[in-house]
Amino acid sequence: MIAAAKTEQLNVLERTQLVMEQALNKMSYGKDVYELLKEPQRLLTVRIPVRMDDGTTTVFTGWRAQHNDAVGPTKGGIRFHPDVTVEEVKALSIWMSMKCGLANLPYGGGKGGIQCDPRAMSMGELERLSRGYVRAISQIVGPTKDIPAPDVYTNAQIMAWMMDEYSHIREFDSPGFITGKPLVLGGSLGRDSSTAKGVTIVMKEAARLAGFSVQGARVIIQGFGNAGSYLAQFLHKEGAIIVGVSDAYGALYDPDGLDIPYLLDRRDSFGTVSNLVENCITNEEMLQKPCDILVPAAISNQLTAANAPHIQAKVVVEAANGPTTLEGTKILTERGILLVPDVLASAGGVIVSYFEWVQNNQGYYWTEQEVDEKLEAILTAAFTSVYNTAQQHETDMRLAAYMAGLKKMVEACTYRGWV
Ligand code: GLU
Repeated sequence: MIAAAKTEQLNVLERTQLVMEQALNKMSYGKDVYELLKEPQRLLTVRIPVRMDDGTTTVFTGWRAQHNDAVGPTKGGIRFHPDVTVEEVKALSIWMSMKCGLANLPYGGGKGGIQCDPRAMSMGELERLSRGYVRAISQIVGPTKDIPAPDVYTNAQIMAWMMDEYSHIREFDSPGFITGKPLVLGGSLGRDSSTAKGVTIVMKEAARLAGFSVQGARVIIQGFGNAGSYLAQFLHKEGAIIVGVSDAYGALYDPDGLDIPYLLDRRDSFGTVSNLVENCITNEEMLQKPCDILVPAAISNQLTAANAPHIQAKVVVEAANGPTTLEGTKILTERGILLVPDVLASAGGVIVSYFEWVQNNQGYYWTEQEVDEKLEAILTAAFTSVYNTAQQHETDMRLAAYMAGLKKMVEACTYRGWV
């Protein structure tokens, strides 16, 4: 067992492996299961030369990790970020396995990442990078192998370029190669807002258990990107009071509630809002302000041993991947704060991605109402299963989510004779 102070130093992959080992032990699976699942089955590193607008060439490094394909093809987004690392991509692919497991989707987890800063690149450079990445990984991906999607700083336009490139390589139209596409290219109604819709669904369940309603609740949302901004929009409509929002540069806080329609209208495409007001506070200060629900919807390692004792929320819903450290999780749980872990709270995106893939395969498209109803049914069941597992085994919600999320994969590996 690693000492508490040490776990704070672990990287996201090591943290994931630690919780995974505990989860598999609790379910009495053998050591061989952990050995198989602790790392992705397949990892490809690529170096992508891109002609920049000024005529020079920049070589970008990227990865695609496929955690485990016992259940079905692997699935998960592609992240464009200057700080993305191979450990992070591996951990993210494992988390995708758990999201798919909790939602009972016929997939294993996958993830891609490219070290780049899209905020400093032109549309032309981004297009050449996106197409170059697809050429580099084309042999290991495909509608029945591994299906990418958007993630941090990638969007429907990037998915469209990638789908077009893949279709050229395969010489036929392949909409099911990638999800999160624009509607006219086979995207699904409701995909764009699906992560936030999922967060709203599990948040309502968590608030109900904690004895209050989302309507009238004071909410702080860290991050105003795809998940954070749609979430602010939905919660504002539901009658919640959004008292804090932030971006990478600063945070806005008003105990009486922020003007959400104004911020939604004026934010830029990367979710920047801190330039719209004068007296910003820091992200760190905002996280510790009083609220009923705190939603980290930005990056990893935000709730730690250092600030978890000072968080004033009743419920924390992790819309980002990996926002809370293990020690942070322990402290929040001990303080009686109900924590809805990332692999459950942010599963709405991949669930509707699955619907998009099904619609592409069928060539038959659903209404937004159908998408929403199916999403709600899946996530409500997933929430109940994680909560019941936590109660039954007297664990925190994260360990319970790992247990419930890995079960199907372990069974599939067992039937296939891999363990
Ligand atoms: N990138 C999203 C996630 O982390 C969505 C993945 C997908 O739609 O496949 O869950």
